[in-house]
Amino acid sequence: MGLDDIKRRIAAAADRAGRNADDITLIAVSKVQPDDRVLAALDAGHRVFGENYVQEAQGKWPDWRERFEGVKVHMIGPLQSNKSRAAVELFDAIHTLDRMSLATKLARQIEEQGRAPQLFIQVNTGDEPQKAGVLADELPGFLKACGDLGLNPEGLMCIPPEDEDPVPHFRLLRRLAADADLKLLSMGMSADFEDAIAEGATHVRVGSAIFGARDYG
Ligand SMILES: *Cc1c(COP(=O)(O)O)cnc(C)c1O
Repeated sequence: MGLDDIKRRIAAAADRAGRNADDITLIAVSKVQPDDRVLAALDAGHRVFGENYVQEAQGKWPDWRERFEGVKVHMIGPLQSNKSRAAVELFDAIHTLDRMSLATKLARQIEEQGRAPQLFIQVNTGDEPQKAGVLADELPGFLKACGDLGLNPEGLMCIPPEDEDPVPHFRLLRRLAADADLKLLSMGMSADFEDAIAEGATHVRVGSAIFGARDYG
């Protein structure tokens, strides 16, 4: 399993950047992976995982949470508003707050359930029409509106365009977070987490480099 290797690479990247590796959370992205691979990571002591689909996460994490103490599950995929109740019940963090309709529903569930997942706002740093996320220049207004709903987002998340150098996107996200006084940066995946750490990532989302390729068949 690639978990130890990825941890070593995170430590080395943090070192090169003059950062403390303890300030970087490795989210092991377990979506679509066979149970045995995820259980191997749990047995090895890893506790922070990322999922993209509410239904898939509902099918496995309630049971694994009982068996392994201290598990944290982060929602990193697009979230439909009608899944807000389940998402607030299930997840410790949601990285994909990207629109007012979702903010409104999440705020209602957080109040009803008395449970508040950590929130990241997804930013569409590449201004891609097909991609989710708040546009950079809409971020201040969106943050204000979240505050009015009683939400307290702690960070920003981005998925850079596939065919571009991710570094300018990581820099933009970092600058936006600094301007808004947000502390957390969810950026970097299997192909680019070391670059993201150099640019200040506090949360890297690594799937295939840990678990192997996903089989969607
Ligand atoms: C699937 C996914 C990842 C993990 O991707 P890998 O390339 O397998 O590391 C990270 N972030 C998001 C938002 C994803 O959907």
